[in-house]
Amino acid sequence: MEKTDVDRLRTLDREHMWYPWTPMTEWMARDQLVVERAEGCWLIDADGKRYLDGRSSMGMNLHGHGRSEIVEALVAQARKAGETTLYRVSHPAAVELAARLASMAPAGLQRVFFAESGSTAVETALKAAYAYWVAKGEPQRSTFVSMEGGYHGETLGTVSLRGTNGEQVDMIRKTYEPLLFPSLSFHQPHCYRCPVGQSSDSDCGLECTDSLENLLTREKGRIAAVIVEPRVQALAGVITAPEGHLAKVAEITRRHGVLLIVDEVLTGWARTGPTFSCEAEGVTPDLMTVGKALTGGYLPLSATLATEEIFGAFRESVFLSGSTYSGYALGAAVALASLDLFEKEDVPARAKALADVLTTALEPFRALTHVGDVRQLGLIAGVELVADRETRAPYPPQERVVDRICTLARDNGVLVNAVPGDVITMLPSPSMSPDDLRFLTGTLYTAVREVTEE
Ligand code: PLP
Repeated sequence: MEKTDVDRLRTLDREHMWYPWTPMTEWMARDQLVVERAEGCWLIDADGKRYLDGRSSMGMNLHGHGRSEIVEALVAQARKAGETTLYRVSHPAAVELAARLASMAPAGLQRVFFAESGSTAVETALKAAYAYWVAKGEPQRSTFVSMEGGYHGETLGTVSLRGTNGEQVDMIRKTYEPLLFPSLSFHQPHCYRCPVGQSSDSDCGLECTDSLENLLTREKGRIAAVIVEPRVQALAGVITAPEGHLAKVAEITRRHGVLLIVDEVLTGWARTGPTFSCEAEGVTPDLMTVGKALTGGYLPLSATLATEEIFGAFRESVFLSGSTYSGYALGAAVALASLDLFEKEDVPARAKALADVLTTALEPFRALTHVGDVRQLGLIAGVELVADRETRAPYPPQERVVDRICTLARDNGVLVNAVPGDVITMLPSPSMSPDDLRFLTGTLYTAVREVTEE
């Protein structure tokens, strides 16, 4: 792109754009990163500089950019019909996709309701769970339970599910508190900062789940559903649960006769190993949400899957929910093409092999003076920075250590995110080459060392 064109874009950006989660004064004060095109896992900016996308566009990118199979499916569907809406009209792509999702999901999740984003898929699950209890004659079951620090989206319903943990989560909750519905939360399985004070893994009897047991006992008959991110809470700081934690949560939830919603929006599509993370512990929820990489990141589309038991409550009535773009044809056709690639190229096997490379590449971080903990589940990884390793004390926020590390990594050609709790997160695409992955971790390692040991 010509320099004058880039300058013009940056001026228009300063005058008109409004970015999510971005301190705007700071954004406008610097030369914005304008991504003009992409190749595989690389983003190329308007000045021609290349960045390795270590966050795969927030977990969307599954097969790499520019895959002709997906582009062709998109064009072919656009030629037939771009949209039809699912409001009392069907179309082949959505029906095929629903059947395909049902065949891939944990057994029993046979019904598929489409939406456009992870947040709206979770909203759908919340409404379906509550309306299910209304249909069953138990409308007093109107409270939802989530895990501390849990992240389920940005709509008011999903923000209502945030437990309070971490600076950003607290800030957002605090800002919107008067608009939110009440919800309850139970301990997160944070082994580095154990909520029940266990000092080592060997002591762990999953006592953190007692808070769920106690809560469901106390609130008997008032809870609609428990919602969890299965086995890892990415945005809370890559909190990886000990083995058996999800199965225990599911067991407690079932024993109390409460519905279980598993939010696979980020963990789905082999990011943590199996196609869906809950499969690793043999858990089949009542409702499951998927999104992000469902289309390989090429179009926004999400879905809420439900059992026949849930759907049965609506069979004779109507589920009062939906949107204009629910299950739109382009999105469904692209998702089908993405799932073809997922199976043809055995993405789970590739993700597993790449996760092993990541495990090895993360090892050197553990020796750095200010790295408190390194956590990983499949292709979700986090490095927690601490001011003092002995006491695990965090850095004073005004030092903005993780921001400085991310900026330095970016200047050196790697994009990663920081989340509350001074955790730098990596969400590499399964399509990333092992060499690129090592470039990602190597660049980040240098940035962490330079900033924290300067
Ligand atoms: N659920 C989980 C577990 C997520 O990680 C996210 C986003 O990061 C969402 C829901 C919200 O998805 P979206 O940003 O597509 O609304």
